[in-house]
Amino acid sequence: MNEPTAAVHDRALSLPPTELPAYLYDLAALREHAAFVRAALPERVELYYAAKANPEPEILTALAPYVDGYEVSSGGELAHVAMAVPGRPLAFGGPGKTPDEIRAALEQGVERFHVESEHELRVLAELARQTVPGTGVAVLLRFNLAVGDGALAGSSLAMGGRPTPFGLDPSRAPHLVRLLTDGTYPHLELRGVHAHLASGLDAPEQLAVARSIVEWATGLGVPLSEVNVGGGMSVDYAHPGRRFDWTAYGEGLGRLAAEHPELTLRIEPGRALTVYCGWYATEVLDVKHSHGEEFAVVRGGTHHLRTPATKGHDQPCSVLPVEEWPHPWPRPAADGEHITLTGQLCTPKDLLARNVHAPGLRAGDRVAFSLAGAYAWNISHHEFLMHPRPGFHFLNGSVGDVRPSG
Ligand SMILES: *Cc1c(COP(=O)(O)O)cnc(C)c1O
Repeated sequence: MNEPTAAVHDRALSLPPTELPAYLYDLAALREHAAFVRAALPERVELYYAAKANPEPEILTALAPYVDGYEVSSGGELAHVAMAVPGRPLAFGGPGKTPDEIRAALEQGVERFHVESEHELRVLAELARQTVPGTGVAVLLRFNLAVGDGALAGSSLAMGGRPTPFGLDPSRAPHLVRLLTDGTYPHLELRGVHAHLASGLDAPEQLAVARSIVEWATGLGVPLSEVNVGGGMSVDYAHPGRRFDWTAYGEGLGRLAAEHPELTLRIEPGRALTVYCGWYATEVLDVKHSHGEEFAVVRGGTHHLRTPATKGHDQPCSVLPVEEWPHPWPRPAADGEHITLTGQLCTPKDLLARNVHAPGLRAGDRVAFSLAGAYAWNISHHEFLMHPRPGFHFLNGSVGDVRPSG
């Protein structure tokens, strides 16, 4: 679904130009989607939200009834998420954890560590010995597994099965399992295996990957209680109506879980949970012709919504026509049917969407870019060119609605 929800549509049109651009999040849409995802998953499969996709406190809070916990990938996310949703289980992953971050996580009693390297395991073991009385810091070893059969061929961000800085090399598994089970690290408890191998997989590919991970983990020959098969569920920016098939995925995970009654299976999606609840709304400032093509320059740009630049796609959008034109100067308008939407930055990379079907688009018309609820504002280079920050509006929420731009 590309069209703004009613609440987003109304807010996008009612804000004065000086309060644009604005991120508009529809928390009711988020709750509905998260409830659907949760309902599609078997009860025995745990759902963690990967906070890096969108860590806005309102988003984390809205998700709380539907998720079993949160995956955090830095000390900053750890502190932030613990504050936003106190008492909820956290899994601490990410490469390059510093000793200070690990110590803070131990002191805070983080439920799970996703260990990314042998060095990290040694640091964690020593800091656990110093920090935690008794035993039992729960460890999942993150492995960079090669999953077979071209299951990752369709992925845009594959990071498994080839050289990457993520996770442990599977060839080291027997050694690491031994260290964690022969008393070398008495303060650590090996709970299981974690793998996050790719982004952008559809349901059959995800199931093939999940099955490979579980079979590999159970083949280690040591009793494990948890396998986390990661996130990366596909989001199709070119066809926003095509959603990841959570129903098929849930059924497949149900079959996998039934084959392994001793295991808790866990998934940790980010993008596919929150992307659909966010819009970046703005107005057209200028319309111009250049060498046979037409361009509309909108207020804002990829310094707020970097997603189309990083992924090299056209951000899906809807035009919301505005009839009033309050200015004494003429109103620029497009002659043609298709137009490229760019931002205010002085770089040719500031492209939001190319060849948008928007006949007669005018300055003053509004544009709502959809699929802006994940990896959008928080991955953007906000300071470049020193334009003002967008506003943030959390619609249909039970908590505070508007947060002024900072
Ligand atoms: C980023 C990340 C996720 C979430 O990935 P999505 O593509 O947003 O679903 C999950 N787990 C780990 C370890 C990650 O780094």
